[in-house]
Amino acid sequence: MGTASSTTGAEPSGEIKNIREFRQVKLRAEGVIVTTGSKPPRAHRALCRELSEERFTEAVVFNEGKKGRYFLRRDLTEAVREFQAVACMKCKPERPISRPD
Ligand SMILES: [Zn+2]
Repeated sequence: MGTASSTTGAEPSGEIKNIREFRQVKLRAEGVIVTTGSKPPRAHRALCRELSEERFTEAVVFNEGKKGRYFLRRDLTEAVREFQAVACMKCKPERPISRPD
């Protein structure tokens, strides 16, 4: 952490780069995860079932992010502004988080 990278802004920060970070994000269950594998990119709640470790591993580890990468954003507004992401139809990140019944 804290590595100074270029400030050109070409590379969005907050990328989830390995399975350890992916698990931490899911454990915290905060924010919105943007997946860039689809066009337009999709925004999910951290707890969305679409975001399985298997899919993450395939996209980020095996395909080295060539077919899609994962980014963490604070909320859907940020995801839309930075990625032009659309909200996932299953986890509906535009809704306020409610406790499971
Ligand atoms: Zn989702």
